[in-house]
Amino acid sequence: AKQAGRNRFCLYDPALHEGIQRRQMLENYLYNALERRQFEIHYQPQVSLRDGRIVGLEALLRWRHPEHGLINPAEFIPLLEETGLIEPVGVWVLQQVGRDYRQCLGALGETDFPVAVNVSARQLAPSLIGQVAAVLKDNALEPHCLKLELTESAAMDDPARTLSLFDSLQELGVGVCIDDFGTGYSSLAYLARLPIAALKIDRSFIGNMMTHTEDREVVSAIVALAHNLGIQVIAEGVETPSQWRALREMGCDVAQGYLCSRPVPLAQLADIDRTVWEV
Ligand code: C2E
Ligand code: CA
Ligand code: CA
Ligand code: CA
Repeated sequence: AKQAGRNRFCLYDPALHEGIQRRQMLENYLYNALERRQFEIHYQPQVSLRDGRIVGLEALLRWRHPEHGLINPAEFIPLLEETGLIEPVGVWVLQQVGRDYRQCLGALGETDFPVAVNVSARQLAPSLIGQVAAVLKDNALEPHCLKLELTESAAMDDPARTLSLFDSLQELGVGVCIDDFGTGYSSLAYLARLPIAALKIDRSFIGNMMTHTEDREVVSAIVALAHNLGIQVIAEGVETPSQWRALREMGCDVAQGYLCSRPVPLAQLADIDRTVWEV
């Protein structure tokens, strides 16, 4: 880049240019990724802090590109959202989870727990209800087999729309969790009115809770708030035994994170080592 004076725009920045080129390249490939079967789903267990049992799974989307390898959702989810491709891909994720469901439980030797699927703000249309109902019907699953995760900021984007969709999902019997909780700006009065199955505490708070008193206080306040509203609490990004113990002492219900397992393909679920978190 040319030497730019302070407060002057730099007209050509090679790093920025490379970023734009990679984005453009990924976007071009993304249009065909679904029909080329390049998406896959990895599953991460959610573990009860009370008894150490696996009480759920979160489905996490992966894009395996033949030349560029496994691409991180942080990089391609925003592209899916901007291009509108998140709608067909979101439907695929729901259907694949429906097809995988019984094998997931079988691999873990469990009989009955929900698999959580992430949904974007762009999927929050009345058509979502029909898509979810179809997946349940096609795979002969009970409604409690599925849960949806929606980020706090997506949920607060259009409160009236969120409320009516959450009500329809509740009628269907499918729970909704608020993801990345603590990073958005919820109206607490509004939150109390939403039918919510669980709050997921954002992993930034969990990551700092052993070193920063404020973050620990935030975690403990979220646990108290949720329990007062009769809502379950899931801590995400639990990486260490000390975080596990602190969360258990606070009365947090469920932990999810690398301590228990990284997200893994269905074929590796049976190999998860449960001795690391045995309580
Ligand atoms: P998220 O929903 O907050 O998912 C949790 C992320 O934290 C996952 O990243 C997971 O791999 C990661 N994680 C889990 N445990 C730990 C830990 O102990 N430490 C650390 N550092 N990270 C941990 P991932 O899989 O890269 O997904 C990133 C985001 O992409 C997700 O964040 C979610 O917002 C989005 N996403 C993933 N799959 C889907 C999908 O099917 N649909 C939509 N709309 N979004 C998705
Ligand atoms: Ca999530
Ligand atoms: Ca999250
Ligand atoms: Ca997150």
